[in-house]
Amino acid sequence: MDSQKKFPRTFSFEFFPPRNEEGRDKLRETTQQLGQLKPKFFSVTFGAGGSTREGTYDTVKEIQALGHQAAPHISCMGTRRADILALLDSYRKIGIRHLVALRGDLPKDAPRTGDFHFANELVAYIRAETGKEFVIEVAAYPEFHPEATSAQDDIRRFVDKVKTGADSAITQYFFNADAYWRFVEDCEAQGLGVAVVPGIMPITNYKQLARFSDACGAEIPRWIRQRLEGFGDDLDSLRAFGLDVTTDLCERLLAGGAPGLHFYTLNRAAPTCTIWERLGL
Ligand SMILES: Cc1cc2nc3c(=O)[nH]c(=O)nc-3n(C[C@H](O)[C@H](O)[C@H](O)COP(=O)(O)OP(=O)(O)OC[C@H]3O[C@@H](n4cnc5c(N)ncnc54)[C@H](O)[C@@H]3O)c2cc1C
Repeated sequence: MDSQKKFPRTFSFEFFPPRNEEGRDKLRETTQQLGQLKPKFFSVTFGAGGSTREGTYDTVKEIQALGHQAAPHISCMGTRRADILALLDSYRKIGIRHLVALRGDLPKDAPRTGDFHFANELVAYIRAETGKEFVIEVAAYPEFHPEATSAQDDIRRFVDKVKTGADSAITQYFFNADAYWRFVEDCEAQGLGVAVVPGIMPITNYKQLARFSDACGAEIPRWIRQRLEGFGDDLDSLRAFGLDVTTDLCERLLAGGAPGLHFYTLNRAAPTCTIWERLGL
């Protein structure tokens, strides 16, 4: 459990690009509230196949203008090298120095197009074109990526991706702390050498969480699922339980030496602020 202790702790918050003016207003408020917690950066997701390209750009621009560091996610599936170069150039012009580099997913049944197959190729390309100009984060999966042919292969691919030139990694969310510890130990044994920051999903909505988890392969342990199901329409009790469980997970991760936390905020400040306060950060 000690292998991650050598890295400084970083805290970051993730947003998705709002879809309308109301969402943009709400996100401005959320940024202001979470900005008071002084995260290292706010990351902003990127729609599969570039579907939120403008939204991601506009959102990171606004975050930077508010005086915070923003880190756009860039997914490469279905994308040409020239598009990535143009995107990097547009980010450079607004002062972006931090990226989250991903493969992304194509919509089901879409033909496979573009110049990239896996995220390691994107990392290699960004490094080749821009040297050390950007800090590059990549994705990690303590419970393994849904397409992994085996746990061992997924670990090897992840370590290789990092060695291609990533500075650190953010994990898919998980509720099994042991999966995280075992994952980072195995990666370190293969010479990983970077911080793997746990991704944290505050539990506030069971149906949404179940949908996300089925899609991304993050397990909701049976005891948590049963409790959440049991609350039915009693949303206050569900949220209270959910925030207890999430806070407890964060506490254990930090006490064990995790190098910070990355919150999947879903553009809301309150759940993250509550957990933050309870952790005494
Ligand atoms: C922190 C975080 C942020 C995310 N943000 C976004 C976002 O903004 N937009 C979005 O669309 N999605 C996002 N995702 C989801 C992500 O795009 C998907 O999980 C996607 O399916 C995999 O992306 P990756 O970068 O992890 O892929 P990769 O690292 O390429 O891995 C994908 C799969 O391929 C395997 N693999 C890797 N390299 C090779 C190789 N050379 N040969 C054979 N197999 C290989 C891996 O083992 C794995 O099973 C995010 C995920 C995380 C954890």
